[in-house]
Amino acid sequence: MTHLGEETIMKRVPSVFEIGKNFANVDITKEPIPVIPTIHYMMGGIPTNIHGQVTVPDLGAGTDEEGLYAEGKIVKGLYAIGECACVSVHGANRLGTNSLLDLVVFGRAAGKHIVDGYHQNDHNYKPLSPQVLDATMGRLNKLQQSTEGYNAQDVADEIRALMQKHASVFRTQALMDEGVDKLLALGEKVDNILLADKSQVFNTARIEAFEVANLYEVAKATMLSAANRHECRGAHTVLDYDRPEDDNVAPNGRNDHDWMKHTIWYSDGNKIIYKPVRKVPLTVDYIEPKVRVY
Ligand SMILES: Cc1cc2nc3c(=O)[nH]c(=O)nc-3n(C[C@H](O)[C@H](O)[C@H](O)COP(=O)(O)OP(=O)(O)OC[C@H]3O[C@@H](n4cnc5c(N)ncnc54)[C@H](O)[C@@H]3O)c2cc1C
Repeated sequence: MTHLGEETIMKRVPSVFEIGKNFANVDITKEPIPVIPTIHYMMGGIPTNIHGQVTVPDLGAGTDEEGLYAEGKIVKGLYAIGECACVSVHGANRLGTNSLLDLVVFGRAAGKHIVDGYHQNDHNYKPLSPQVLDATMGRLNKLQQSTEGYNAQDVADEIRALMQKHASVFRTQALMDEGVDKLLALGEKVDNILLADKSQVFNTARIEAFEVANLYEVAKATMLSAANRHECRGAHTVLDYDRPEDDNVAPNGRNDHDWMKHTIWYSDGNKIIYKPVRKVPLTVDYIEPKVRVY
């Protein structure tokens, strides 16, 4: 922006000057604005059916001949919608209407399903185990009793920097593999956060400390799933797998034959399995995916 000169900047784009000052602490009349890639849309999420009901694969039922697990069981009473959910309509692309579809279509569908279930007196839920709070209270107490450990924001910054380097816009297999090792090694720090401020009222430091563990789970899901996917697909651009647009097997590196499938990552043991992409629409004909050309 510096080439515009201070007078033009202050007259034409004063809000950009303010944003530069408030968010990046730079004077845009004199200095460049730092640019850091960030997340526009988190692709993937908690698996759901079209009613927003969360589903889990039935591991005991085994896989089909392609090694994929079927949709599985509904977790009755648990719904996910919006960016945190994966209804299996987007693949790996964040097109213009991702959120519109997620929120307006599936949000509405989930709401209707919840209300319909309520009116049908369908309240037969699995009883909660008496130990249901143990894990949550365990997390809370561990932080509350911590006398030494790592600063939450330092650990969060390490996770962010690692993800920006190893799971960024343009990836290589080596960079992702290295990222997996480094991320798993960070687990020790995430498990040993020091909560210096133990106050009980409106303690945002405690929330931030909790958030580090959540950030770490999402980072692991992203990094491990990415390193395991040996192709290019949408935002997952891996330079090693790039191919010409007219490649017979994997045009532009997208290998539908081997990789048209959803990754499911388990926090427990960092296990990865795959399930099929829902391809057949309910009321209209199926449209074969095409090669993306510009
Ligand atoms: C810069 C940018 C541009 C975008 N542009 C587009 C676009 O052009 N088109 C498009 O379709 N999408 C776009 N998106 C994506 C879109 O904005 C999001 O996908 C959508 O807003 C997600 O909605 P949501 O309700 O699922 O989640 P959110 O809007 O993130 O809502 C989640 C809510 O939960 C609250 N919350 C979090 N934790 C807790 C807790 N523990 N307890 C209680 N509440 C909690 C949060 O405060 C928040 O209010 C853009 C995103 C960004 C960041």
